[in-house]
Amino acid sequence: MSNISYSTLGFVDRDLEAALDGVAAAGFTQTEIMGQAPHLAVPPKGKALADFRARLAARGLRARTVHAPLTRNVLGAPEEGWRLEVVEVLASYLRLAGGLEATEVIIHPVPNPIFVPEGDHPEVARRIAEAVPRSLDRLVPVAGREGVRILLENLPYSCGYPYLGMQELRPLVDGYPEKQLGLVIDTGHAWTMKRDPSLEIELAGSRLQGTHLQDVDYDQPADNHWPPTQGGLDWPAIRKALASVGYSGPWTFEVARGTRGETPEQLARLTHQVALSWGLQKSLNP
Ligand SMILES: [Zn+2]
Repeated sequence: MSNISYSTLGFVDRDLEAALDGVAAAGFTQTEIMGQAPHLAVPPKGKALADFRARLAARGLRARTVHAPLTRNVLGAPEEGWRLEVVEVLASYLRLAGGLEATEVIIHPVPNPIFVPEGDHPEVARRIAEAVPRSLDRLVPVAGREGVRILLENLPYSCGYPYLGMQELRPLVDGYPEKQLGLVIDTGHAWTMKRDPSLEIELAGSRLQGTHLQDVDYDQPADNHWPPTQGGLDWPAIRKALASVGYSGPWTFEVARGTRGETPEQLARLTHQVALSWGLQKSLNP
């Protein structure tokens, strides 16, 4: 089985069907589906889900992972009404992933402070810290029933919130079963926070089950989402760190733009070439 995957984020300029065409045309056989507009803003069910699965299969594509919606859709909503609403949205994406036979669902543990009223009030960080495990207690059993794993992602926010990096996320996931909860390293988020991605990978250790591989500028990292090798990250060191923790999950490329004004098609092909140069996959769709 192929172990590389390409996020539909790379084709955020078009609808999901056109994005999947782009992912497949670049040579990928697996994808991560963005669970928000302009992609899967509403999880399909019943016949719509069966039809969607058939269209994926017709392209030779597997929905390997699903990215739950972003913005306010986080575990650590600091208001209880907000949290209760969002947990049900997240549960619907776990059910979608089960229906697609995807292996993992990526969820952001905490909100970007721009979405939080009085987001820098110290009380907010405390409420987020309490909300995160409460939401997991509700969602981990849903993941168990659906046969999927929730992955918590390290995030690039400069604020005093908990659970932004692997140092805090690893002990959190240690309290839950490995089959239902793990971690995903976003290499660009790590360096945007001036955290060495290789060190974050080591901190995540055996609970690391997902990747968002993207490059950023070395001196002024800004969550750039460039193709690996276009920015300043030390990719040989990152690959070595992944090997050192026995990483066996998908190598998911989360590319949004390039440094030379490349089109989405060019970026996807270029990224596929990087994956091949790392020896990750023999080309199945030459
Ligand atoms: Zn990411």
